[in-house]
Amino acid sequence: NGRLWIVATPIGNLDDLSPRARQTLREVGLIAAEDTRHSAPLLAQAGTQPRVLALHEHNEHEQAARIVEHLRGGGDAALISDAGTPLVSDPGYRLVRAARAAGCEVSPVPGPCAAIAALSVAGLPSDRFVFEGFLPAKAAARRERLQALAAETRTLIFYESSHRIVESLADLRGAFGDAREAVLARELTKLFETVIAAPLGELAARVEADANQQRGEFVVLVAGASGEDADAQLAEGRRVFALLREELP
Ligand code: SAM
Repeated sequence: NGRLWIVATPIGNLDDLSPRARQTLREVGLIAAEDTRHSAPLLAQAGTQPRVLALHEHNEHEQAARIVEHLRGGGDAALISDAGTPLVSDPGYRLVRAARAAGCEVSPVPGPCAAIAALSVAGLPSDRFVFEGFLPAKAAARRERLQALAAETRTLIFYESSHRIVESLADLRGAFGDAREAVLARELTKLFETVIAAPLGELAARVEADANQQRGEFVVLVAGASGEDADAQLAEGRRVFALLREELP
């Protein structure tokens, strides 16, 4: 059987493609890419012209079967996403499972990942952290999700797009309070890279007031609740529970 390589690609700076990633992309007979047009310049830069197949959320099941067929025929294959590490807020886990179930080895070619790059410059506690990916698009679901996270003590990492950054920062502020430390990492490794560290209230206000800070791609990191915050949450939970209990028959 061939081997499936999970290859990380740059998140903005093409020089971040590792020599091993480049070599892997040159050597495999088949590359599964999230968006084949988007990946064309990267593959051209890597000097490779293999068979490329589109694999995204909606066709992963069928495409995985094709890729596994290729692996079973003895050829190697690689999975890349539009940017960064495949499977991190990107498709691929079904393919990995299918390849392994078919008896194929799956190996990583590690490299850029926006969440980890942002964590590495945030200056927030990093011994434990939670990756939350994208928040729900709808306001009610987003707020509910954030409420459920308000007492989390580990550093929180979110992905966000330019469409919703202002709303999401406002909701983060609402759920965690103005004083909670946060970091906004925008356009990492690109020309307009900006990292702002500020309490949530100030951060939300600064981004809302500056259209330039609303452009591009974002990682939002929020410090975990401190012991005091967690106590406050617990006390609030008890208070609400006591009120509810009075109302129950
Ligand atoms: N697989 C990718 C990774 O390893 O980071 C993430 C893919 S996810 C679909 C895209 C999101 O990642 C963006 O909306 C943004 O939140 C974040 N992102 C990607 N590149 C970034 C960059 N250069 N700077 C900041 N955030 C970035």
